[in-house]
Amino acid sequence: MNFSEILLQWYPFNKRELPWRNTNNPYFIWLSEIILQQTRVEQGLPYYLKFIQSFPKVADLANAKEDKVLKLWQGLGYYSRARNLHYSAKYILEYYDGIFPKTYSDILSLKGVGTYTAAAIASFSYGLPYAVVDGNVIRVLSRVFGIKTPSDTSLGRKEYQHVAQDLLNKKNAADNNQAIMEFGALQCTPKLPKCTSCPFISNCFAYQTRSIGALPVKCKKIRIRKRFLNYLLIQNGKAIILGKRNEGIWKGLYEFPFIEYANKKSEKAIISSAEWIEFFKNTHYKIESVSDEFIHKLSHQHIYAKFWTVNIQDFELKNHSFIKNYRIKDYPVSRLTDKFLKEYNIT
Ligand code: SF4
Repeated sequence: MNFSEILLQWYPFNKRELPWRNTNNPYFIWLSEIILQQTRVEQGLPYYLKFIQSFPKVADLANAKEDKVLKLWQGLGYYSRARNLHYSAKYILEYYDGIFPKTYSDILSLKGVGTYTAAAIASFSYGLPYAVVDGNVIRVLSRVFGIKTPSDTSLGRKEYQHVAQDLLNKKNAADNNQAIMEFGALQCTPKLPKCTSCPFISNCFAYQTRSIGALPVKCKKIRIRKRFLNYLLIQNGKAIILGKRNEGIWKGLYEFPFIEYANKKSEKAIISSAEWIEFFKNTHYKIESVSDEFIHKLSHQHIYAKFWTVNIQDFELKNHSFIKNYRIKDYPVSRLTDKFLKEYNIT
């Protein structure tokens, strides 16, 4: 048996039952694939169900308000995915009459869809012979075949794509793609792969050469940026100030204004800093409380945040407005802000 045949034999006995595997509706598959980017299946599943229930058709998503889409996405992170979904749904409605595109290149041209996602939608929905290459696929191929080209270089990406495409069973691309990803997720896992029950054990390069831990190879180390944010919950009676972000990873979400520092500072140093003094100039304010520190880790940045509750009588801030405290739960906010609001019972 060849590589694909072994996978296709392994798959039906080992696969998880997941709702997006029981459909070939390209819209549902697109939603699931975008939700599952950088998200675990267990975390993404309830979001998928919420989205298909709230927006059963592309047109429903296209016609929804951005705030509603982001609110539904709240807690999932990487909000550009939700904004791109919304943008592309509108595009499909306008240029394809609400019918999901049917060719690989048309699917690839949607905003937020890369080669992996286009191959997944094209093969799962239409059976088109395009091989998916994601982290699971790279791990399986590098270990079984001993590929040592760093996967995060353009040479590596090309090589993995080429090998995966070569190995793809073109007549059963959908199951073949599902099978290799599932195999990487369940059997050939990053740590402690289940080698003793693996159908590739006798031919697996990594197992035979005891190099499992060294494969796949990556050359770049992600540089993590540390950010120190001090959110300001500026209150005027029972109203609190809130603004909509128009840039960055949290674009489209609502947030309290904040002051950012490059280094960690004591509370005393913050209050006497030039940034703080400038922010509050010509106002009379009273600091009510300061929260504990919240640490929020993203792939490229670690955020250390404190939330300062400040009472002010007269205050105005560009692009911000006062809303009633109890209405804050209606606004889409970042997971970090949501965590703070829940822990401190602010509703
Ligand atoms: S033998 Fe181990 S390392 Fe090799 S493919 Fe199987 S699970 Fe992965």
